[in-house]
Amino acid sequence: MRRTYLMPLAFVALAGLDLPAEGPIPLDKPAQAATTAQPDPAPRAAGRPDAPPPDKKPAALPGITAPEDSESALASCEAELRKFQVTFDRLEPRTGENGCGIAAPYAVTEIAKGVSFSPAAQMRCETALSLARWVGGVVLPATATLPESARLKAINHGSTYVCRRRNNLPTGKMSEHSIGNAIDIVDFEFEGRKPIGIVPRAGDGNIEEAFQRAVRGGACLHFTTVLGPGSDASHDDHLHVDIADRRGGYRLCQ
Ligand SMILES: [Zn+2]
Repeated sequence: MRRTYLMPLAFVALAGLDLPAEGPIPLDKPAQAATTAQPDPAPRAAGRPDAPPPDKKPAALPGITAPEDSESALASCEAELRKFQVTFDRLEPRTGENGCGIAAPYAVTEIAKGVSFSPAAQMRCETALSLARWVGGVVLPATATLPESARLKAINHGSTYVCRRRNNLPTGKMSEHSIGNAIDIVDFEFEGRKPIGIVPRAGDGNIEEAFQRAVRGGACLHFTTVLGPGSDASHDDHLHVDIADRRGGYRLCQ
């Protein structure tokens, strides 16, 4: 089913106060990202049916807890997405190791009327709504100020849902990407002018720098984490945005 919707603020998320370090953007590979495989249970000791099996589980790694999205919250979210003329489909739940997964994943193909969002993306409804609000409230108005009378036709991302740790490290905390809370924005495509990609632009003094500064600054109104060029080396080619829910409503925008 294809619908067009929109939704309000619902804070979900996880995480404590630790500052997120988010890594480079591997393209989503959902087939690899989610797995429910568990270690095989150990056989019981012969003749002792009640003997506990030896513990073969690997050492626990820091996991992540996906927020609960009630059906009523999802319905409200979808209604909001429709207001923003988002084109989306609700998909089957996804699960993975270390807390990865999305109970109610949404595929978003248009984030505003006539503005495609690609490649294929999966995220929580709340994430999609934050994205739609940012596009409608910040990116489209910024586009309207471009001198070429440009029309925004596409926003391209590097990853949405993917089961991985922060910065793609083998250990450490799971990324907000692993529960569908995060998006890596790579570039903006227009009719009427060349694309604007996210790259280091400090001091360029041109309209592209102004556009990038505007959409990045405005992103902090709609997301609780915004990282990009200058935050660290791994963010020089994209904007990482997520809706992590931190104590006290703390926002990390760099
Ligand atoms: Zn990211």
